[in-house]
Amino acid sequence: MPVESNNSGGGNVRVVVRVRGFLPREIERGAANLIEMDPRNQSTTLYPPPPDSTKANARKVMDKKVFTFDNSFWSFSRDDDHYADQDDVYDALGEEFLDHNFEGYHTCIFAYGQTGAGKSYSMMGTPEHPGLIPRTCRDLFERIESNNSPSVNYSVRVSYFEVYNEHVRDLLVPRRDPPYYLKVRESPTEGPYIRDLTEVPVRGISEVLKWMKMGDNSRTVASTKMNDTSSRSHAVFTLVLKQIHHDIDTDETTERVARIRLVDLAGSERANSTGATGARLREGSNINKSLTTLGRVIAALADDPPQKRGGRKKEVVPYRDSILTWLLKDSLGGNSKTAMIACISPSDYDETLSTLRYADQAK
Ligand code: ADP
Repeated sequence: MPVESNNSGGGNVRVVVRVRGFLPREIERGAANLIEMDPRNQSTTLYPPPPDSTKANARKVMDKKVFTFDNSFWSFSRDDDHYADQDDVYDALGEEFLDHNFEGYHTCIFAYGQTGAGKSYSMMGTPEHPGLIPRTCRDLFERIESNNSPSVNYSVRVSYFEVYNEHVRDLLVPRRDPPYYLKVRESPTEGPYIRDLTEVPVRGISEVLKWMKMGDNSRTVASTKMNDTSSRSHAVFTLVLKQIHHDIDTDETTERVARIRLVDLAGSERANSTGATGARLREGSNINKSLTTLGRVIAALADDPPQKRGGRKKEVVPYRDSILTWLLKDSLGGNSKTAMIACISPSDYDETLSTLRYADQAK
């Protein structure tokens, strides 16, 4: 049996894979489940689709492929429709990452995968089934409110932007037509940053959810107007948590700042789209640029985490090769914690294989 990978990492990047359940249209056409996961060893197996002599598939060689990740969420066997719910994902990943933020680390969680594979569901979710972003916000304020220590002061700020075609758009300001793009600058002390990006202080869960919704609507409005921009843009939701500790004995104050990045990436199928010309081609290759650069950046970090570098010369991590990776530089590598949720649909062999391979190189 060809095993594509047999180690579950150990590098700086956590990689988890989430398969979603069948959608009504897939059930209607009798689509087969090609995914099996084993929670004992966190393996994900992709099976070839049933032979169909009328399709080009029949001529392609499709093998069973086995991968191992830090977590495989969650369809035990192909006859058993047991899928991870939003709690499972938050409990396995979101909660721990928020622990790191309170310890003062920056974190970044990406959702990667083809359009329709469950990226927005995993990050934003629905009102009935909130995803990682609203859960992280809620947990963050619950932790702040339950900490009664008078020696710690907390403040939280939020921003939300999207990267489309290597341009940055603020999602917390009303949309303009034509769209208004922000400039990326570099400060000698802070590194790359977005000039004039809205960053609002928030004092509680209802305020942060209000901004989250506003940004999300701005993205959605754009997507209906502009032929589904949301699957073609990368949306970056950021919380900045500042903790000021005041030592009453010495009267000294220390400050810890942690950036919490939660990123819904553009659909990965755009990176492989063929037959496009003109603006579409440029757009495809720009998405391609961000996604392939992101892949190269996290593969470089996974191969060469800072604690393993020792006295060796640092490998050059290609942050500068795309706007997305350049802007996220402070949240990838260094002392940051990074995770990727590879979202897959249960019945698409080619796209799923490409997603699993992308995720595999990030370990
Ligand atoms: P993407 O953001 O990758 O394009 P979506 O998150 O919009 O995909 O998911 C496509 C559809 O599948 C949506 O209707 C969404 O509600 C549904 N969906 C995705 N993941 C799940 C899941 N784990 N459980 C239930 N429904 C899901």
